[in-house]
Amino acid sequence: MKSPLLEVTDLKKHFFVHSGALGTGGATVYAVDGVSFTIDRAETLALVGESGCGKSTVGRCILRLFDITSGQVMLDGKRIDELSAGALRPFRRRVQVVFQDPFSSLNPRMRVRDILAEPIRNFRLATSRAELAARVDRLLEVVRLPRDAAKRWPHEFSGGQRQRIGIARALAAEPDLIVCDEAVSALDVSVKAQIVNLLYDLQQELGLAMLFISHDLAIVEHMTHRVAVMYLGKIVELAPKRALFAAPKHPYTQALLSAVPVPEPGAARQRIILKGDVPSPINPPKGCRFHTRCPYAFERCRAEEPALRATAGGHLSACHLHDLPAAQNPLAAAA
Ligand code: SF4
Repeated sequence: MKSPLLEVTDLKKHFFVHSGALGTGGATVYAVDGVSFTIDRAETLALVGESGCGKSTVGRCILRLFDITSGQVMLDGKRIDELSAGALRPFRRRVQVVFQDPFSSLNPRMRVRDILAEPIRNFRLATSRAELAARVDRLLEVVRLPRDAAKRWPHEFSGGQRQRIGIARALAAEPDLIVCDEAVSALDVSVKAQIVNLLYDLQQELGLAMLFISHDLAIVEHMTHRVAVMYLGKIVELAPKRALFAAPKHPYTQALLSAVPVPEPGAARQRIILKGDVPSPINPPKGCRFHTRCPYAFERCRAEEPALRATAGGHLSACHLHDLPAAQNPLAAAA
């Protein structure tokens, strides 16, 4: 059986933050604390959750912008978390990133032509100047920008257009996987929709795999195959998109989803307002990390951490309620 394109197993990334005047004190931030998932070729997985849940840290670990604390990251069956800088080079071409901020992520002193030519040159993907120029033209076409954009500077473009340039730059390396880290969060609503549609079209046309990191469930609904929901460094639910949006199994997913507008006029979800803020990843709650905010928390939740495991409808969910008989399960009663 073919291995998935990306396989992340029990990934942990802990940071030590120094404190005190001499930097002698400090604490550990459990930013990512045991995350596992796979992404197949030509598949999009959305990683969603509130700010500070660790989703962007997962992306940066996969990109090897951070060294991981423990666990494994495999690309095409090969472990990449242990590779030296030199051995990482071919991997760097295969996994590219589109960052959130289209204003700071492009070098203001480079014309668009040079921004797009840089990865093509670095990875020796063109054999002549003519081929290089043709590739740049093609990239602009793919992201729906005019050919004359090549000779212009980043500041001459709007936020949405800059994000198209950022996407073209990621595509220039001919990657297998693109990590989109809050790639549309900084954009206006209408532009956001255009870029999401573009990413969706590219994913379909080019057969790319994507890890789409977002705090906004509504955005991912139209473009992903599966959704993983993160809370305080852990995945609490992972399911095919349709199943997750139709019947979320985890109380946290239910709360997130209740805030997503329903397109049909007159239809409405009952909004679930969570109490309190996300606890600090320096001192995450014992047991289920969500128990301090969960409307259904019971004694076991405060003592025992629930494992992410298969439940009905093809979901993986980490919640003790799944062990209760239907008559005692408030989620079953609410369904
Ligand atoms: Fe809520 Fe308990 Fe389930 Fe955690 S394990 S989500 S606290 S019911």
